[in-house]
Amino acid sequence: MTINVEHFKKMFLEMKNGNVALDSNDEMGSTRLGGDDADLANAERDRAMVLKLKQREAFFFRKIDEALTKIENGEFGQCEDCGGDIGEKRLLARPTASMCINCKEEHERNEGHLLYAKRSKTIGTELITNGETLEKAFKEVQKYAAV
Ligand SMILES: [Zn+2]
Repeated sequence: MTINVEHFKKMFLEMKNGNVALDSNDEMGSTRLGGDDADLANAERDRAMVLKLKQREAFFFRKIDEALTKIENGEFGQCEDCGGDIGEKRLLARPTASMCINCKEEHERNEGHLLYAKRSKTIGTELITNGETLEKAFKEVQKYAAV
């Protein structure tokens, strides 16, 4: 099976560019000088939201960079676990997937409750290497950022 690598590469680069633009717009834009208490509270909340967004983007960018590196190395679309094809259909639905669906499901079954213990200690860094989906990683980041 041949994956249209150029298509994915273009898509990843567009994702990165799109997010960079969004990021700079949000750059602490709502922080005000000399506001009253309500303004301060709003600014705090906005700052927390920007922080969450940045953390999510950091995850996202890291996954995109990993995928781009794989494209350069000719490893894109290979399962990190079994070395088999992830499959174009799965990649189209989840471009940053690093494992085939079989390994992913296997992984989730095996690691289920163990991941919880790891999560609290390593704050997300393990999530990616454990092949968590972006959505799950995002949720974890949000949860963590909210504490
Ligand atoms: Zn696999």
